[in-house]
Amino acid sequence: MSYGEIKCLSQYAFLFYFYVFFFSPSVILLDSKAQQTELEWISSPPSGWEEISGLDENYTPIRTYQVCQVMEPNQNNWLRTNWIEKGDAQRIFVELKFTLRDCNSLPGVVGTCKETFNLYYQETDSEVGRNIRESQYVKIDTIAADESFTQGDLGERKMKLNTEVRIIGPLSRRGFYLAFQDVGACIALVSVKVYYKKCWSIIENLATFPDTVTGSEFSSLVEVEGMCVSDAEEEADNSPKMHCSAEGEWLVPIGKCICKPGFHQKGDACEPCGRGFYKASSQDLQCSRCPARSYNDREGSWRCDCEDGYYRALSDPPSAACTRPPSAPQNLVFNINQTTVTLEWTPPADTGGRSDVTYRVVCRRCTWDPEECVQCGSNAVYAPQQAGLTDTYVTISELLPHANYTFEVEAVNGVSDLSRTQRLFAAVSIATSQAAPSQVSEVIKEWVQQRSVQLSWQEPEQPNGVITEYEIKYYEKDQKDRIYSTVKSKSTSATVNNLKPSTAYVFQIRAFTAAGYGTYGPRLEVTTKEEATGTISREGGLVLVFYLVINGVVKFPGTKTYIDPETYEDPNRAVHQFAKELDASCIKIERVIGAGEFGEVCSGRLKLPGKRDTAVAIKTLKVGYTEKQRRDFLCEASIMGQFDHPNVVHLEGVVTRGKPVMIVIEYMENGSLDAFLRKHDGQFTVIQLVGMLRGIAAGMRYLSDMGYVHRDLAARNILVNSNLVCKVSDFGLSRVIDDDPEAVYTTTGGKIPVRWTATEAIQYRKFTSASDVWSYGIVMWEVMSYGERPYWDMSNQDVIKAIEEGYRLPAPMDCPPGLHQLMLDCWQKDRNERPKFDQIVGILDKMIRNPNTLKTPVGTCTRPISPLLDQSTPDFTTFRSVGDWLEAIKMERYKDSFTAAGYSSLESVARMSIEDVMSLGITLVGHQKKIMSSIQTMRAQMLHLHGTGVQV
Ligand code: AMP
Repeated sequence: MSYGEIKCLSQYAFLFYFYVFFFSPSVILLDSKAQQTELEWISSPPSGWEEISGLDENYTPIRTYQVCQVMEPNQNNWLRTNWIEKGDAQRIFVELKFTLRDCNSLPGVVGTCKETFNLYYQETDSEVGRNIRESQYVKIDTIAADESFTQGDLGERKMKLNTEVRIIGPLSRRGFYLAFQDVGACIALVSVKVYYKKCWSIIENLATFPDTVTGSEFSSLVEVEGMCVSDAEEEADNSPKMHCSAEGEWLVPIGKCICKPGFHQKGDACEPCGRGFYKASSQDLQCSRCPARSYNDREGSWRCDCEDGYYRALSDPPSAACTRPPSAPQNLVFNINQTTVTLEWTPPADTGGRSDVTYRVVCRRCTWDPEECVQCGSNAVYAPQQAGLTDTYVTISELLPHANYTFEVEAVNGVSDLSRTQRLFAAVSIATSQAAPSQVSEVIKEWVQQRSVQLSWQEPEQPNGVITEYEIKYYEKDQKDRIYSTVKSKSTSATVNNLKPSTAYVFQIRAFTAAGYGTYGPRLEVTTKEEATGTISREGGLVLVFYLVINGVVKFPGTKTYIDPETYEDPNRAVHQFAKELDASCIKIERVIGAGEFGEVCSGRLKLPGKRDTAVAIKTLKVGYTEKQRRDFLCEASIMGQFDHPNVVHLEGVVTRGKPVMIVIEYMENGSLDAFLRKHDGQFTVIQLVGMLRGIAAGMRYLSDMGYVHRDLAARNILVNSNLVCKVSDFGLSRVIDDDPEAVYTTTGGKIPVRWTATEAIQYRKFTSASDVWSYGIVMWEVMSYGERPYWDMSNQDVIKAIEEGYRLPAPMDCPPGLHQLMLDCWQKDRNERPKFDQIVGILDKMIRNPNTLKTPVGTCTRPISPLLDQSTPDFTTFRSVGDWLEAIKMERYKDSFTAAGYSSLESVARMSIEDVMSLGITLVGHQKKIMSSIQTMRAQMLHLHGTGVQV
């Protein structure tokens, strides 16, 4: 590189001229002054140059050569130095110090006296002997004195020392001689110094640059590669270089070395990082303290090790804190729609210190008995995906119908796979229902009349099971579907009757399979024909009124599935999943209305912001509860909160974040059904009673569609509101039954309300919707007998025995035979023979539409196929008196009436008819019924025991 290039660099690239000036010592090859002994240079002729000892200006002794042949013409005196080995030098500096006498000051020397001398050199590889061959010398220069000296006025000499420097080179041989030619001057050669220049070894930018001899030309620079100091390395593509100038100066450092990982720069060296510090990259300037959750206990570390239980992902830089796998996702909730499950959750409480949390879902299909789970396989479809989920939800579809699945949602981060600790996940167990049938899309109007329409349709493209029924929903177009009716059909056609003439109706059809209803197909509008004479059917009107009054809102079950809150590890989570947390300030408790197992039941008002205040029942948890009691108490809310049906008691919300803990339920003005009926004994029409039963059946249909088995369906667990709408209530798991005073321990273990419970549930705890149907039959009996106790005061053991032997409750008084038949159907021993709630609703609807079928003359109730007989106690024949018997059936108030009318023996009582009972002045229909049904049982018992026929 030349100076010109460097200048260019400086202007163009570096923007400043980086010029480093270092001290620039020379390497001396010859210094005549430094030698104290004789120089012994060669002088030719010997009479010419003469070696003389003297003192320099500092009075230091020196060796000099002098010549002063100024008087003689044609002088040619040579003086040659000893051989000078040049070493590395290419460019040699020759510094001469001399004095020269001014010829003018010498008298009589004109023509011979000179004032210059010549300097020569000869290159050789070795010494060449003592002869001087002039021709072999190369002239360097003619040297003149800048200042010659003269004789002073006082006669003393005034010495004027001249210094001249000449440069020779480039030299190529190993050494050289210098020669001084005098041609007649008066010279004293005070000192001869021969040297070359060198750039001395330095450390610059952590690189060592060795001693470097300058270039041969004045304008040349010697490029020198630097060597990194120990524990340093060259910066990538930037190796260290410097330039040694002709003047022995280091110029233009380029590139550099940097301390290796684990070392940092201190001055011109790299030192190891201390303990607890690290330096990951040579590019980093400083050592840094170990990041969080990491440590090291040795010097010179490029990284720190993670503490136990903490990790660094492969992609984590050493500067990253050590992290750990996240905790489990929180608040995992799911939504199931047939065979599609949507899971949602909230991020884990502890992300492990990382921001790369994603989620993955593990799906297992399980059988519970024996409990075995297998991976879900490739059939399940995950959207958006199964793993690497960044959002907190996933939908899993195409699951098998009617299967139990467990889903585990795990939060993972960059170090999850490194950790050997146990996986943390949130899990839910879900049972799928079967896919419901697809839409019935093509509906054809076969014919239309004034009051009827016949429709036909195609089976849906995907029945997803055996279609057992179609439901045709229809409503007057003007009414929208606020009020609608339905008819059912087992085939793909149906005639809808009882329509109004000249009225536009809208029809929609949906199919039903074991998996539930499909969605309604498109609307078909049909206008009935004009009627010539035209009055509106009474029955049609009645149906509509029934739907309005009895059911309030008409709503059909969906296919939502009930989730057992016990599947939640954290019961609190279950509560908040299904129940709204209410602010206690929105609730006003007014009075105590009952006592529950966990505390008082109160009535009060709920005023939610922006809503009208409503009457509510408030169940409270008494103070001093245990954690288990709190959990069991709230369990009811977790269950109730999942339901939304006009015949299922509606949960308003819970208060769990304050005291007392409360469950807030819609207020049911008339309290529980059994007490309500007893209070209004005999006061309702059969239609009203059937309306109540219809409501209960609809509620149960909804619950069974959701897969919820009640286990404790009884009139005492039905609540009645001011519109006589009956709603199923009292939800819970085992605790409801524990809580039920009717529940008793059975030999199979566990408490069971024997009188309401199906045989298989008593015998081997097989609780299903079919066992709920049995209980429903008992509720029917309770309703139709205005709250009579099923099996009266028979012992539980006797009830179990009687049922086992095939005996069933007789029809209550005034009970339409169709209804009693329905009860008996509910009490079929084979649970598969029992009707489903859906069918029960259908049958009751039919009865309501055709009130004639419900007409039963008083006292002509059909006898049960197998009248219930009690073979042990209470044995009517063992009652000593009519009084005993009346006491047993809690009708002792009529003792006197019986005695007054002459009924003194049980035999005479057994012959009584309803008219006889009425003639005693017993006017309350419920009491009449109670007495009559007891008399009927008494008769049956007598018949059974004595074979005596009793005439009615
Ligand atoms: P439970 O704890 O459900 O057995 O309730 C005890 C009593 O409180 C019941 O027998 C009812 O009389 C009364 N009760 C419970 N819930 C309600 C409600 N939602 N509306 C009116 N009364 C209720």
